[in-house]
Amino acid sequence: MVVERINFLKDEINKHNYLYYVQDNPSIDDYTYDMLFAELKRLEEEHPELKTPDSPTQRVGASSSTFAQYRHKYRLYSLDNTYNEEELAKWYERAQKDLPAGAAPALDCELKIDGLAMALTYEHGVFVRGVTRGDGVFGEDITNNLKTVKTIPLKLFEDINIEVRGEIYMPKSSFLKFNEELERKGEKKFANPRNAAAGSVRQLDSKVTAQRDLAFFAYSVIFENSEKAPDNQYDALMYLKKIGFNVNPHIRKCTNIKEAIAYCNEWENKRQELDYATDGVVIKINEFGYQSTLGYTARAPKWATAFKFPPEEAQTRLIKIEQSLGKTGAVTPIAILEPVFFAGSTVSRASLYNYDEVKRLDVRVGDSVIIKKAAEIIPKVIKYVDDGHHYEREITMPPVYCPDCGEPLHSKPNEVGLYCLNPNCKAQELAKLIFFVSANGMDMTGIGENVVEALYNKQLIKDIPDIFKLTQKDLMQLDNVREKSAQKMLDAIQSVKNNPLSKLITALSIRNVGKETAEILALKYGSMNNLMKASSVELAGIANIGVIISDSVCEFFKDNKNREMIKELKKLGINMVQNTTAVSDVFQGKTFVLTGTLKNMPREKAESIIKSHGGKATSSVSSKTSYVVVGENPGSKLEKAQKFGVIILTEDEFMSMLNNAN
Ligand code: NAD
Repeated sequence: MVVERINFLKDEINKHNYLYYVQDNPSIDDYTYDMLFAELKRLEEEHPELKTPDSPTQRVGASSSTFAQYRHKYRLYSLDNTYNEEELAKWYERAQKDLPAGAAPALDCELKIDGLAMALTYEHGVFVRGVTRGDGVFGEDITNNLKTVKTIPLKLFEDINIEVRGEIYMPKSSFLKFNEELERKGEKKFANPRNAAAGSVRQLDSKVTAQRDLAFFAYSVIFENSEKAPDNQYDALMYLKKIGFNVNPHIRKCTNIKEAIAYCNEWENKRQELDYATDGVVIKINEFGYQSTLGYTARAPKWATAFKFPPEEAQTRLIKIEQSLGKTGAVTPIAILEPVFFAGSTVSRASLYNYDEVKRLDVRVGDSVIIKKAAEIIPKVIKYVDDGHHYEREITMPPVYCPDCGEPLHSKPNEVGLYCLNPNCKAQELAKLIFFVSANGMDMTGIGENVVEALYNKQLIKDIPDIFKLTQKDLMQLDNVREKSAQKMLDAIQSVKNNPLSKLITALSIRNVGKETAEILALKYGSMNNLMKASSVELAGIANIGVIISDSVCEFFKDNKNREMIKELKKLGINMVQNTTAVSDVFQGKTFVLTGTLKNMPREKAESIIKSHGGKATSSVSSKTSYVVVGENPGSKLEKAQKFGVIILTEDEFMSMLNNAN
């Protein structure tokens, strides 16, 4: 049982790491993630024999490889965290025990800025390199983009060689404006300021980054020449300020843990006044001498910890429950709320997920409800507040018919939720078309939701292939579309024809198949033809796929209408193969060693993909090896990798890396 739970938690956390760090698109809130992580940590402490080097508790973040990789000169770590004052006091006690008897270290308290960690190198006071934290060992070199951030000084007030670390973030006010703009354009909004900052700073075109309002707070410094180095964190921050950095004005030096806890409580209440998101307080032992005595775990310093603020909640009233029909025919209940302002935005809708959840929560129209929003992800209803009238109110029953076409709804074996299975349901057809052109689908920049809706309503398009048959004349039938903008749209349509197969698979709205799954399928099968021939058993055997997804994929390709659509798309010149020979240099300078049996592809194929992205695949592990990929029944290479401290990747993590490189 424990082994299964540990494996489940590892898989779950790895999946969320990928969505959060690589795709900047988390699907759960930070509190839920932290609870999964804390459970895994606790189980591993109780059963140390089950702790493996590939566990997410032993690693920092996840590496992403859109940009050239850079091996950090000094490793970057994460932070342990707690939501609890007692645990904070215990952390301090533990630190005291490891220090000379009688030590009562001062604490430096800093707001934990919810952005992205950066390492900035200055040579003779000039900014020469900016790298993301990545997995702590390798980060992405995004120097040119960082040069566009006004609060990152290009030249310091001193001629000095240092590495400065800090957080890049998007102010809340800019985030709200930016999201409004995306909404106007019919593009996907960002879940929170952190994701918006991550998406902005990792743009391939620095001009795009320059248009985004980003800022930087410096919070630590490493000196190449230690003569000038202060001997404690507080003075180091003052020094950073002196040489031209933006340092958070709310830092406070506390003499004991009680004062530090008071600081945490103070900011838990005051944080909404700030124009940047903070998810907690970082508490650091102030003296550098004490810091080096305490040292690090595999993942975090022992001399610092984060006190995280609990997820924010608000009370409002449930006005009605609406049904929303998605691109896969799923009918989901949405809570329509009396608007309430909290956690930086006005909320008038919240997720209820499915009708089982409505039943479980027993929320009824007219109830006062508590909604929760952690890390500013879409809020959800968590409970009703009993005002004495709850039981007089009507229970909301699941709908029986599709809100759009009126056909009866169905449930699916092994799945929660209700589905409209009518292939001619108009709302579904439209939702599919909108998704197909959207940034998460084929990404036809400049063609928003409104354009697709207008084209559909004018019957200029009724299915996906029709999009590729549009002419300038068709497009000019839309309001306010002149020759030039029509041509721009046609160019956008043309430009996606060579998209990778994975993007096309995602864009087709196959039930249960999102970006990550599409990438796994594209990489495994290489072409649409091969994928269409795959049996349900074969698909279910692929790591991270399982029965539900494999059934959805088979069901999709069994449908004659879908097979015809693929045929037509092929005729229209849409790329149907995953170009594994496409050369990039994202693994430039990196050496991989593969050990054990890989489930997803023969080892030779994996090696050839690594090479096609500029990396090296060798057979023996040395201190120069960048990554060791561990399949089933690994050999002695795993032990060697541990000995040399080489980063160990599970096969799933390796697959994510490959998908990301493609
Ligand atoms: P973290 O964000 O909890 O803490 C470490 C980071 O804090 C540092 O890398 C730095 O970027 C930042 N920081 C901000 N202010 C700082 C300061 N003054 N001094 C020092 N550091 C400061 O750690 P992490 O490893 O980046 O991420 C783990 C956290 O990310 C989780 O606890 C969770 O909240 C979130 N997460 C969420 C999901 C999800 O799916 N929702 C997935 C993965 C991670």
